[in-house]
Amino acid sequence: MFNKILIANRGEIACRVAATCRRLGVKSVAVYSDADANAKHVAACDEAVHIGEASAQQSYLRIERIIAAAKATGAQAIHPGYGFLSENEDFGRACEEAGIVFIGPPVAAIAAMGSKAAAKALMHAAAVPLVPGYHGDDQDAALLQREADSMGYPVLLKASAGGGGKGMRVVERSEDLAAALASCKREAASSFGNDRVLIEKYLTRPRHVEVQVFADQHGGAVYLFDRDCSVQRRHQKVLEEAPAPGLDDSVRRAMGEAAVAAARAVNYVGAGTVEFIMTGADFYFMEMNTRLQVEHPVTEMVTGLDLVEWQLRVASGEPLPLEQSQLTVTGHALEARIYAENPARGFLPSTGTLKHLRMPEGVEFSIGEAGERASVRIDSGVREGDTITPFYDPMIAKLIVHGATRDEALARMRRALEECEIVGPHTNVEFLHRLVTCEPFAGADLDTGLIERHHDALFAAQKKPLREALALACAALIAREGGVGLGASPWQALAHWRLNGGFAQTFAWRDTESDTALSTAFTHDGGAQTLACAGEEERYTWWRGERENEYGATIGNNRVTGHVFIDGDVFHVFCLGVAMSFEWQNLLAHAADAEHGEGRLTAPMPGKVIAVLVEPGAVVEKGAPLIVMEAMKMEHTIGAPAAGKVTEVLYAVGDQVADGAQLLMLEAE
Ligand code: ADP
Ligand code: ADP
Ligand code: MG
Repeated sequence: MFNKILIANRGEIACRVAATCRRLGVKSVAVYSDADANAKHVAACDEAVHIGEASAQQSYLRIERIIAAAKATGAQAIHPGYGFLSENEDFGRACEEAGIVFIGPPVAAIAAMGSKAAAKALMHAAAVPLVPGYHGDDQDAALLQREADSMGYPVLLKASAGGGGKGMRVVERSEDLAAALASCKREAASSFGNDRVLIEKYLTRPRHVEVQVFADQHGGAVYLFDRDCSVQRRHQKVLEEAPAPGLDDSVRRAMGEAAVAAARAVNYVGAGTVEFIMTGADFYFMEMNTRLQVEHPVTEMVTGLDLVEWQLRVASGEPLPLEQSQLTVTGHALEARIYAENPARGFLPSTGTLKHLRMPEGVEFSIGEAGERASVRIDSGVREGDTITPFYDPMIAKLIVHGATRDEALARMRRALEECEIVGPHTNVEFLHRLVTCEPFAGADLDTGLIERHHDALFAAQKKPLREALALACAALIAREGGVGLGASPWQALAHWRLNGGFAQTFAWRDTESDTALSTAFTHDGGAQTLACAGEEERYTWWRGERENEYGATIGNNRVTGHVFIDGDVFHVFCLGVAMSFEWQNLLAHAADAEHGEGRLTAPMPGKVIAVLVEPGAVVEKGAPLIVMEAMKMEHTIGAPAAGKVTEVLYAVGDQVADGAQLLMLEAE
């Protein structure tokens, strides 16, 4: 085994690899860009070397800098993670020349699988089933047209050097082929520096099922079973699971053996994934990814193995730790990729600081000894306070759950997603929750078109527990402002009004998601408290929970608890499995602004003027009652924010006033 390795990556996968190193007593070296000087992966490793500017081109993709860092720190091997240089032949070669072990397959195997077209030719020779199609060298447009026509439409054009869902075009009709071909070749040339394309029959409603393989340097090769990654957006995976639901044992074995045959055909060594596309029980080779995959934890969960440990053992020359007959699957695992992105805007990546980040109870990178599986695992490369930048992949975390059955895993996943609290960039957490709850996914009716086909249901506006969330927001606000009606803070002088010896306060809010105004009215009369929201008044109590940001409330006969994270005047409420945000319309702050300006006094809510207590010219003390309004069956007194002279009264008794209307003018002293 190595003494020290360098991890040529960042984010969660760098942290993931470092966790196994720590467990095995192997020292780890991180590399980092300007943007990552304080990143979690740097802290996760024993040493760290700066390799360049923020852009990946200037840092994580600079082969010579990474090799130099490995040499300088005495690392014997380099783990490339996924993405970046993980499938780069030049990098594998540079490691070889520098006498450093590349923790991955031989350069020749990367090269053989790097071209989808060449890989298909090899697989054909190895008798691995292929999707009907054309993957020849001849790229003559007329020939490609004839090939597509004879296959029958729809067909799929793919950049032979492509990856990451890029460089693909579905063509529905013969007459559209020429234009699609030209645009596919353009994208292929600019993205991958190679315009070669292949054509495949476009399968409708297929599944993406892949097989994890492992091979050692001594001729040993096994498969670690399958994963279903059919739930995709823009040909990119969103949810993954192991084992693939509903496969017959005979199909599972046939796929596993085909995947091992594919690996053997290129003299593979290390961890690899053979991706198949399936319709019914038929499966066809799509491509092989010659690296550890993002979704490898679901395989770890069901096999009880640490795949990074296997990678290190194999790269250091040890034989595979287990034979095929010793490998088994226990239970079911699901993974959800939590991204900083906005599903409502075409999954556009989102950036920003993670002001609040609370993940469900679970074990980070739980990769313990075989047999002890955590039921919730979180793999994350960021911490609260870190920033999602535009430079790299916007993944926040992977949430992985295990259960004895798929249903059990599914229930855990729903619950875990409900417990995620993220404030800062937009995230796909709610979308993931809908996805794992929707009927086709829950029923394991999987195919790559699932998201698109259920688009309306997955993106429909959701009914949220507004009253409960507001009750918690009010609790947090009252707690923050130091107790209502106690005269403890000056804002109360403005916002509270008397009612039969008790007092009441209205809080004006803005729902930040829908940008609508909301109002709550809190009254305290002897021991009884009520809260009116959306026009309905109920008995109300609130309390602070034991944990940080935790609040509880009863509204009528309902009890609700949750977390409220306060960011300035924005109250982010997490309760009943949903997140809602309300901006408190801080009236005193506005009135205080006015104090120094024109002395505007505005209605905090729509209502009726029931008393005007001053006349123009009146000189008033700070806090003096000026106008009484009635709204939501309650009275609300507008007090003077500062001592001064009333210059104008704009409404009379009985007038109906709109929210925010200016009621009178006060010239502050
Ligand atoms: P596939 O290529 O079949 O989607 P994966 O699901 O394993 O395979 O995704 C790998 C992708 O992850 C890369 O192509 C890249 O877009 C992205 N990626 C690369 N580096 C990182 C990283 N450090 N953190 C998160 N994502 C990354
Ligand atoms: P990448 O290198 O981008 O991962 P793949 O060849 O693995 O490219 O394909 C990515 C995804 O595109 C698959 O997971 C599947 O959803 C879809 N796809 C690929 N080939 C076909 C096909 N012949 N018919 C239908 N869908 C396909
Ligand atoms: Mg793929």
